[in-house]
Amino acid sequence: MAALNPQTSVLVIGAGAMGAGIAHVAAAAGHPVYLYDTRAEAIERGIAGIGKDLAFLVSKGRMEEAERAAVLGRVSAVTDLAQAADAGLAIEAIVENLEVKQSLFKQLEALLPTDAILASNTSSLSITAMAAALARPERLGGLHFFNPAPRMKLVEIVSGLATDPAIAETLYATAKAWGKVPVHAKSTPGFIVNRVARPFYAEALRVLAERAAEPATVDAALREGCNFPMGPFELMDLIGHDVNFAVTNSVFDAYFGDRRFAPSLIQQELVAAGRLGRKSGHGFYNYA
Ligand code: NAD
Repeated sequence: MAALNPQTSVLVIGAGAMGAGIAHVAAAAGHPVYLYDTRAEAIERGIAGIGKDLAFLVSKGRMEEAERAAVLGRVSAVTDLAQAADAGLAIEAIVENLEVKQSLFKQLEALLPTDAILASNTSSLSITAMAAALARPERLGGLHFFNPAPRMKLVEIVSGLATDPAIAETLYATAKAWGKVPVHAKSTPGFIVNRVARPFYAEALRVLAERAAEPATVDAALREGCNFPMGPFELMDLIGHDVNFAVTNSVFDAYFGDRRFAPSLIQQELVAAGRLGRKSGHGFYNYA
């Protein structure tokens, strides 16, 4: 199955950490990209972030100035989804909430061409359930990037019960053409990485709850002892505790309350305090 033609417009919905990164990847691969968010300031910040990342690549000699300008020039801010009605691929990276995502996809189904592919960057929600709200559920699949999207190679291509295998193959080939390493996964809670990683975070949080070691000690131990690029606490701070806690809750619920996936009160407290990690300047570590 062939990858999408780079002339195909890509609509990215949600201009936060993931959406901006995905827009960067699609534009770098040559696609015209529409970046939409309900908050205009998020789109502005998202595009500024892409500009900063590209300028960094130029400063390191890894990108020509002309290419930087071309990539950035391919990303357009849209404040009304109707401005992106010709998109051939829509990727949502909005809030991790099934009902909100379902309602967005219904809106996209009515707006976009009938052969447009709909994709979700969800970390843990059921692609099967998301697609069930659609008249044509076969054209929706998961396209799960990792944070930061421009640098992380893995993309999970997630098929729900109704996903057309040809759509999954097109997403796979497209991710590959974008320089990524795609893998196929079925729509099970947390897919592959977020399922296997749940006990990694949970056990680190238990170590902290028992006061067995401080976050910095645990992080250093996992980095030095296991060659992980980041320990669990710095990784949770990078992902964002709101996102990570929502994913844990969703995986826990989806496995019918299996204790292996139980959420932590420590993380719940951080979310309640607005200490969301790097993005809010404070999590397990201080970034101010
Ligand atoms: P984020 O909070 O940084 O950004 C989400 C953006 O979506 C915000 O700018 C918000 O204004 C916007 N938004 C919310 N509801 C919207 C709607 N109905 N329509 C349009 N825009 C809307 O979140 P994020 O970390 O970028 O995560 C986004 C999605 O990606 C989630 O589904 C998350 O599970 C998934 N994800 C996150 C990570 C991660 O490490 N953060 C990794 C992979 C996947």
